Amino acid sequence: MSQSHRPLEVACPQCYKKVEWREDHPYRPFCSKRCRLIDLGAWADGTHRIAGEPAMDETDIDEMVMRAERGLQDE
Ligand SMILES: [Zn+2]
Repeated sequence: MSQSHRPLEVACPQCYKKVEWREDHPYRPFCSKRCRLIDLGAWADGTHRIAGEPAMDETDIDEMVMRAERGLQDE
């Protein structure tokens, strides 16, 4: 049995893309910063329904994602 060397794969909770689970992956369990931001937006949008959290509409989420993508390109 030498399967311990195979990377663990998890499905991104946002886009369900398979992503390697790595300890140094900053956005786990998401595949990317984009998906993590979308998920945070979904929380704020009430998709996950938290009482008392301010609502965020899709325009805000789009802008947030665009900023995140720009940030990734700059790196
Ligand atoms: Zn994803």
